[in-house]
Amino acid sequence: MTRLSDVSGDTRYKQYLDQGFVALIDHMGSDQTIEFATRMSYGKGTRMVSDTKNLLRYLVRNYHTSPIEMGEVQFHLKVPIFVMRQLVRHRTANLNEYSARYSELTDEFYVPPSNRLAKQSTTNKQGSGEAFNKDVGSKIESVIEDAHSFALNSYRKLLDKGLTRELARGVMPVNGYTELVWKCDLKNFFNLLKLRLDPHAQQEIVELAELMYIAVQPHFPILTEAFEDYWLNGESLSRFEITALMQLLFSKSREDLIAAITSASKHRPDCLSKREITEFVDKFK
Ligand SMILES: Cc1cc2nc3c(=O)[nH]c(=O)nc-3n(C[C@H](O)[C@H](O)[C@H](O)COP(=O)(O)OP(=O)(O)OC[C@H]3O[C@@H](n4cnc5c(N)ncnc54)[C@H](O)[C@@H]3O)c2cc1C
Repeated sequence: MTRLSDVSGDTRYKQYLDQGFVALIDHMGSDQTIEFATRMSYGKGTRMVSDTKNLLRYLVRNYHTSPIEMGEVQFHLKVPIFVMRQLVRHRTANLNEYSARYSELTDEFYVPPSNRLAKQSTTNKQGSGEAFNKDVGSKIESVIEDAHSFALNSYRKLLDKGLTRELARGVMPVNGYTELVWKCDLKNFFNLLKLRLDPHAQQEIVELAELMYIAVQPHFPILTEAFEDYWLNGESLSRFEITALMQLLFSKSREDLIAAITSASKHRPDCLSKREITEFVDKFK
């Protein structure tokens, strides 16, 4: 398995957790290639759309996602097995993982940092709650490290006895690191980011998603801006929520709504096109 020290001189590799890494090793496309795919399918119809930014924002806003699938990102990752089990649920990705049938597992295990050690949340069955104090935290850390050592010793004993690697690995815990090459088209990568950057996701996969996004963002600056505005930081509303908002906004004029959204985006004055503003107002009028 590749160790952090093996890739330390390669600027594509960023440390992830204590012993893992994230590296964007390849990507396909740019804002312009996604624009090209869109214009190709619309033909003359795109004459109305004045520039790349308006076009890409239109795609994102209207879930016209086929052109967005033309972009692809490929990563070299090293993550704890429990993170891998979450990552692998994103079925639209392609991946190839380190084979613990073919090669031996290493002595690398994720040990959560002391400020991560928290009690089970009482309100969220999948979440962490109050942090442990330092004393309890360090005892917990010892229990985790003892479990890793015991498992690793057992694994090595089984290999020494000649047991096949494919069965010996069964005694290793899910804090153990695994390594993979992972590839996904941009649309489904954005879907992953929306789900895994959410505060309800496990912190370790949030950190992974953050590093992946930081690596990809500069390659698609216009598309990712639209993604952040509409998908990442936007919300969908139920019919009752929409009705409630419409009742609240009933007495407001078109000018009031235009003033409100202009004020909301004032820190980015060129961000919203006239069309985006009109579409916003039309949702409530
Ligand atoms: C907070 C959180 C908790 C979770 N808890 C659990 C859990 O306890 N157990 C568990 O197993 N998973 C769990 N998941 C995983 C979750 O259920 C999804 O499988 C995962 O987030 C991938 O999302 P996705 O299906 O949209 O992505 P992808 O698998 O990449 O799919 C992308 C899109 O492609 C389409 N698609 C993909 N495959 C199919 C298919 N076979 N049929 C039809 N359409 C398809 C769908 O439109 C889908 O939205 C959890 C996820 C989160 C974020």
